Amino acid sequence: MATIEHWIGGAHTGGVSTRSAPVFQPATGRQQHTVLLGEPADVDAAVRAATTAFAEWGQASLSQRTKVLFAFRELVNAHSREIAEIVSDEHGKVLSDAAGEVQRGLEVIEFACGIPQLLKGGYSDQASAGVDVFSFREPLGVVAGITPFNFPAMVPMWMHPIAIACGNTFVLKPSERDPSSAGFVARLWQRAGLPDGVFNVVHGDKAAVDAILDHPGIAAVSFVGSTPIARYIHQRATAAGKRVQALGGAKNHAVILPDADLDFAAEHLVASAFGSAGERCMAISAAVLVGDSDRLVDLVAARAAEVKVGPGRDPASEMGPVITAAAKERIENLITVGERQGATVAADGRGLKIPGYEDGFFVGPTVIDRVTPAMDVYTEEIFGPVLSVVRSADVDQAISMINSNPYGNGTAVFTNSGEAARRFQRGVHVGMIGVNVPIPVPMAYYSFGGWKDSLFGQSHIYGPDGVDFCTRAKVVTQRWPATSAFSEASLHFPTAR
Ligand code: NAD
Repeated sequence: MATIEHWIGGAHTGGVSTRSAPVFQPATGRQQHTVLLGEPADVDAAVRAATTAFAEWGQASLSQRTKVLFAFRELVNAHSREIAEIVSDEHGKVLSDAAGEVQRGLEVIEFACGIPQLLKGGYSDQASAGVDVFSFREPLGVVAGITPFNFPAMVPMWMHPIAIACGNTFVLKPSERDPSSAGFVARLWQRAGLPDGVFNVVHGDKAAVDAILDHPGIAAVSFVGSTPIARYIHQRATAAGKRVQALGGAKNHAVILPDADLDFAAEHLVASAFGSAGERCMAISAAVLVGDSDRLVDLVAARAAEVKVGPGRDPASEMGPVITAAAKERIENLITVGERQGATVAADGRGLKIPGYEDGFFVGPTVIDRVTPAMDVYTEEIFGPVLSVVRSADVDQAISMINSNPYGNGTAVFTNSGEAARRFQRGVHVGMIGVNVPIPVPMAYYSFGGWKDSLFGQSHIYGPDGVDFCTRAKVVTQRWPATSAFSEASLHFPTAR
């Protein structure tokens, strides 16, 4: 059984860590690795390595940085299958889904390859007589990333390629539940020619996170995870004077209007609710039926019962297990509470046993109908393969239901009416909206982020917002006067001439 170590200054190290945690294979329910849990001294060692590396990397030319970025892109592409296998084994998601995660991360690396274009500043010739004004952006220094279990390769790639392309150095604290892809990616960065110390990994739990939040050598913290922790990260790290973006949890609604193609909507609801066992921050967890369409519930429940649940490495599997035994128990309990509170279970995934994998953390696709906004299955972020069906009289009532929810990450509408879709997209208080697209994750050249309790801080992640988050601006106003012009100086506040 391997012990997963930190990666500091270009080498694996155990540092001073004495604590560790088991890493499970969710499909079998058995422990497959042990991960070290970092102490403040390990975080400090990583920050010192990153600070030393920043002295050179922060001055590296755009062309030097771009060369490394392109080489890294080639290596991640060449090794995408291995990364996906690591993700599938530790997270549980099926291999094709893990491959999709790596692909979406790769797209952010490709975006970062265009850094010379992205960092072009503005220039105003002759802003005043003989005076020019121009702007440019500089790196911040050491940037830290703290990431969740559900996309162990992709979410860190939302952060480090852009931070590093901008000239920063980086300390990653991955999820302790599926930590192995971080070390693999670190070695690819090294092979791509990134100087040692620019990319570091410290594994761990709250002790390592708190050390990051308080460390005076870290300029900015990028966090993705659950809402209570996102709120905490934002408060503590901003109090320590850092720039912070903290993306939180979600409850994503899909509204199905009476004019929608119900077969199309049912297929997409099943895919977006049960893909990755519902452990996606953009998963649809609430279907809002406008009108009383029992046919849609029947279609979704029938398709849910057909989803092939099994180990991630089996090519026949469409959906894998959930992350831990505790997650399985919590999800199954919430379904039972929903039933007790008056909802109807139309497809029941509780108590599922997969032959040969009896100890795996499997929960089958579950559809709960007649849910109301007062029930726990609606108010909780379940983060499992559970779709709640709520009813609404019209599109406006559906919009106000979405807007009453504390989360505002993603949402979708299924309709054939352009007018209704437009009313929906303008009316909802949500950051990412799909029209007949249930998981509207923005492409790498836009930015990703929710509203309300789904994001603390102003900045969305990756894309143009990511570049802004990882840099700060300077504006230079300059004049090269002929000696005679000195006589024009005045004590008045300067205005343009
Ligand atoms: P989590 O909040 O439990 O953990 C995220 C990170 O925070 C991990 O690295 C973990 O080690 C650390 N952490 C956990 N508890 C901590 C504590 N008490 N103090 C300090 N650090 C702590 O989240 P998770 O269970 O790994 O991931 C699932 C959650 O992430 C869901 O809520 C999901 O919606 C959310 N998520 C959001 C997005 C988004 O873009 N908005 C994307 C992916 C996941």
